[in-house]
Amino acid sequence: MSLLKGKFAIVTGAASARGLGKATAKLFADHGATVAILDLDADAAKAAAADLGAEHVGLACNVTDKAACDAAVADLNKRWGRIDILVNNAGITQPLKIMEIGPGNYDAVLDVNLRGTLYMSQAVIPGMREQKSGSIVNLSSVSAQRGGGIFGGPHYSAAKAGVLGLTKAMARELAPSNIRVNAICPGFIATDITAGKLTPDMLGTIIESIPMGRAGEASDVAGCALFLASDLSSYCTGTEVDVNGGSLIH
Ligand code: NAD
Repeated sequence: MSLLKGKFAIVTGAASARGLGKATAKLFADHGATVAILDLDADAAKAAAADLGAEHVGLACNVTDKAACDAAVADLNKRWGRIDILVNNAGITQPLKIMEIGPGNYDAVLDVNLRGTLYMSQAVIPGMREQKSGSIVNLSSVSAQRGGGIFGGPHYSAAKAGVLGLTKAMARELAPSNIRVNAICPGFIATDITAGKLTPDMLGTIIESIPMGRAGEASDVAGCALFLASDLSSYCTGTEVDVNGGSLIH
């Protein structure tokens, strides 16, 4: 099935080999989209795009840098003439307790997750408004909904709760332009975001708390991103979709 035939999509933070962004970019490409992978390192982004096929694009873009977001989108607009889909996937986390969060921790986690989502969205919105269509998908987290308690600290919960608020406010403001904005709240998904800091004990406790009894796979999240990016979800905007194996049922 080709749910995204002829569509042009950006996925940020999609160079990470086992990450949610890469799995999403691959599924989008399998469904006929032309995809741009934006990530910190140009070579890694290009290599990840090449994995999807020759027509896909890899660009260096630090999403915390507004000029870099605007430049990447200008480059893609020159190549493609339009952008239909933006997945704000770039994110970082840190397993800190409340009193351990220093100014640098706060800035790093809030900037990549929340500021980056704002800047990338601002970069694509003018073109989407002009073409009167677009779908923006933001990666929030179950941590935003249940107050952390999985891996990330309170600053991560706050950043991802900020992403939910931003998603809903953008959805309201952009709906008249036929631009839909939705969020995905993944539970615990086995990727490299834990950067070697997840102990076997922590993992055991997390898995025990998941009714489906397993960690999520990157493909579980990619499927949801495909639904939200495609016309299958054409009357959904401002939603938060849980992909968590039942770990938060509310
Ligand atoms: P990951 O660490 O595998 O990938 C994240 C990618 O973002 C990396 O390629 C990294 O280089 C990139 N990145 C970091 N800072 C960046 C910046 N400033 N500009 C551009 N790119 C940057 O992580 P993942 O597990 O695939 O997570 C993807 C998203 O899903 C994140 O927003 C994360 O917070 C969210 N999420 C993940 C989980 C999980 O369990 N894995 C759960 C809930 C939410």
